[in-house]
Amino acid sequence: MRILLDENQLQAGVERLATEIDRFYGAQRPLTVIAVMTGSLVLFADLIRRLSMPQRVGVIQASSYRGGTESGKLEVNANMLIDVKDREVLLVDDIFDTGRTLDRLSGMIKELGAKSTKTAVLLHKHREHAVSLRPDFVAFEIPDEFVVGYGLDYMDMYRNLPYLAVLETHEIEATEHKSKQ
Ligand code: 5GP
Ligand code: MG
Ligand code: MG
Repeated sequence: MRILLDENQLQAGVERLATEIDRFYGAQRPLTVIAVMTGSLVLFADLIRRLSMPQRVGVIQASSYRGGTESGKLEVNANMLIDVKDREVLLVDDIFDTGRTLDRLSGMIKELGAKSTKTAVLLHKHREHAVSLRPDFVAFEIPDEFVVGYGLDYMDMYRNLPYLAVLETHEIEATEHKSKQ
């Protein structure tokens, strides 16, 4: 595994992200912060504790990678979503890749009557995106490689790693082998 961002770099990035979000919204008005599960799990826990405003916290689930490294059909599960009507909403995801996930989820939140909808991500992949939406708050720009750790998975593994790493081809194969066990 090739480490792209170590623990200290990640924490500094989350701190920067929180500062930017705080500056934009201010500390007074309540913010509805929604985690896009499961990839944003670790980032989300670190981020919300650094924000200054009162918060309503909720989750929504979206999956598109379907176990592999190629993007597949996007499935959304909003059964656990909290009320967003007339709220200022910030969607938090791990990474902006094609952009389809946040584009779709932003659309859904708007349709549910949110007063405003913005997006924050830890990582922004340097590539062409499939949508015109761009994330409002970004901690890091990264090259177009498949990364794991700090919440991001490959076949549901590696989310617990405290750093962000690029998964090499032989590790992708080894994970596939192990997942059959
Ligand atoms: P998008 O809809 O922007 O193409 O993809 C967003 C989702 O795809 C992310 O929430 C994440 O779950 C997954 N994804 C995109 N790129 C990567 C990557 O490099 N590594 C991992 N583990 N997941 C990724
Ligand atoms: Mg995701
Ligand atoms: Mg995934």
